[in-house]
Amino acid sequence: MSKVLKFGGTSVGSAGNMRKVAGIVVAQGATVTVLSAMSGTTNALVDIAARAAKDPADKAIGDQIAMLQEKYSACIGELLAASKNEALTRMEETLALIAKEAAYYRNPQSERTILAQGELLTSYIFCLYMRESGYRAELLHAPDFMRKDDEDKVDMELLERQLKRLVTNKDTYYITQGFICTDNDGELDNLGRGGSDYSAALMGGAINASQVQVWTDIDGMHNNDPRFVDNTYPIPRMSFDEAAELAYFGAKILHPATIQPCKDKGIPVFLKNTMDPEAEGTMISEAEDNSRIFHAVAAKDGITVIRIYSARMLMAYGFLRKVFEIFEQHRTPIDMITTSEVAVSITIDSDCHLDGIVADLRQLGTIEIEKNNTIVCLVGNLEHQQRGLAETIMKGIHGVPLKMISYGASHRSIAMLVDTKYKKEVLQSLNDSLFTDPNA
Ligand code: ADP
Ligand code: ASP
Ligand code: MG
Repeated sequence: MSKVLKFGGTSVGSAGNMRKVAGIVVAQGATVTVLSAMSGTTNALVDIAARAAKDPADKAIGDQIAMLQEKYSACIGELLAASKNEALTRMEETLALIAKEAAYYRNPQSERTILAQGELLTSYIFCLYMRESGYRAELLHAPDFMRKDDEDKVDMELLERQLKRLVTNKDTYYITQGFICTDNDGELDNLGRGGSDYSAALMGGAINASQVQVWTDIDGMHNNDPRFVDNTYPIPRMSFDEAAELAYFGAKILHPATIQPCKDKGIPVFLKNTMDPEAEGTMISEAEDNSRIFHAVAAKDGITVIRIYSARMLMAYGFLRKVFEIFEQHRTPIDMITTSEVAVSITIDSDCHLDGIVADLRQLGTIEIEKNNTIVCLVGNLEHQQRGLAETIMKGIHGVPLKMISYGASHRSIAMLVDTKYKKEVLQSLNDSLFTDPNA
C-alpha cells in the first residue's frame, strides 16, 4: 500500500507550510514524497538564466540571487535548529553554483543546471527537517533514476528498476525532487514547467503505488479556472480521461502528462489542499460520473491557427495526409482541426517550427496565420443524441465570436476557439449558464 505524495511550490513555500507538509507525509504514511521548489524559486531561476544568456554581467542576476538567499535563509532559520548550519552551507553552495553557471553561461546546459537548483535545495532542507523531527528520512537524487531518451520520454524501465531498488525500507520516508531529470547524455534536464506532478505520477507507476496524491493550494480540481472565473467549485470525483483532457486544455492544477502513467496502472490520483487537508479534494480514477451533463471547463492560451485554402482539395483524396505529414516532419502536434471542401484549419500550441511548417504548407495552397487564440474545452457527459445540447452550449457562450469549433470527436468534450481577448468573458458566461454549485 505505498503512496506517492507530491507537494507543489506553495505547499513548501515557507517554514510554516513545510511543517504542514511533514504532518501530512507522516499522517498519510507516504513512501515517496516528491517536492517542487519553494514558490517563486523557479520563476527567479528562469529569469536568471534568461538574463545570463543575453548578458552574464546583468546586475539583476545578483539581485535575484540575493532574493533567493533571503527567502531560503529565512525559511532555514525558522525551520531548523541542530542542522541549521548544514542547511545554510548547502544554500550558499547552491547560490554560488547558480552565480557561476550564470557568469560562464553555456547554452543550454547552464539553464538546465540553474533550473534544477530549486528542487534540489528545497528537498534537502525538508529532509533535514524530517530528521530533526525524529523521523527516518532519506533524500533520493531524482536525476539518478529519472532519465529522458532522445524522444524526451522518461526511461520507465530504468526508473522502475532503480526506484524499486532504492525504496526498500518501510520505516523510511523517501524524499525526492519533482521536475528534474537527466537527458540521454546524463546531463541535468527537466520535464518542463509544472513537471513535478508528472514526476510523481511516473514514480507512482514505477513502484506500483496504491495512490498518487498531488497536494497543492486549492481544494481539488474545480469546474472552471478559479484564476479567471467567480463561483467555481471543486469536483469530488472524475475519470482519468476527463482529468487528462482538462489538464491538457489548461487546468493548471495538473501537468498535462500526469494522468497517463497512473491510468496505465489503474492508480487513483487524489488532488488535495495542503492548507486544508480535511477538504475532500478530487479523486481521479477509472469511474465515470454520468449524473450530470456538464462537468468542467478549461482554457489553453497561446494557440495559433493555420488556415490552408486549396482548390486541389476539392473531390481529391490524400490531401489531408500531405498536410499531416508536414506537421509530423516538424514534430508539431495538432490540437484542433476543421475542414470544408476547399479549406482546412488547424491549431497548434507551439510556434517553434511555425516558419518551416508554413513554408512547406505553401506548396499545397494559400496560407493564413492567426495568433493569440485560446481553446476553451468543455468536458462532460455530452451524448450527441440529446435534443438541444448544441443549442444549450451555444447559448452558454452569450454571443462571444467563435473562430472554430470541434464537436462530435468524442462524447466527452467540445472544444471552441476564441480570440484570447474573449477568454475571461466566455469562461465566466459558460460558468454562469451551464453550472450550478452542488454545495451551494
Ligand atoms: P503547485 O505549485 O502546487 O503545483 P499550481 O499553481 O501548479 O500549484 O496549480 C494550482 C493552481 O491551479 C491553483 O491555485 C489554481 O489557481 C490553478 N487552477 C487552474 N485551473 C484550475 C482548476 N480547474 N481547478 C483547480 N485549480 C486550477
Ligand atoms: N518548480 C517547477 C516549476 O515551477 C516544477 C513544478 O513546480 O512542478 O515549474
Ligand atoms: Mg503545478
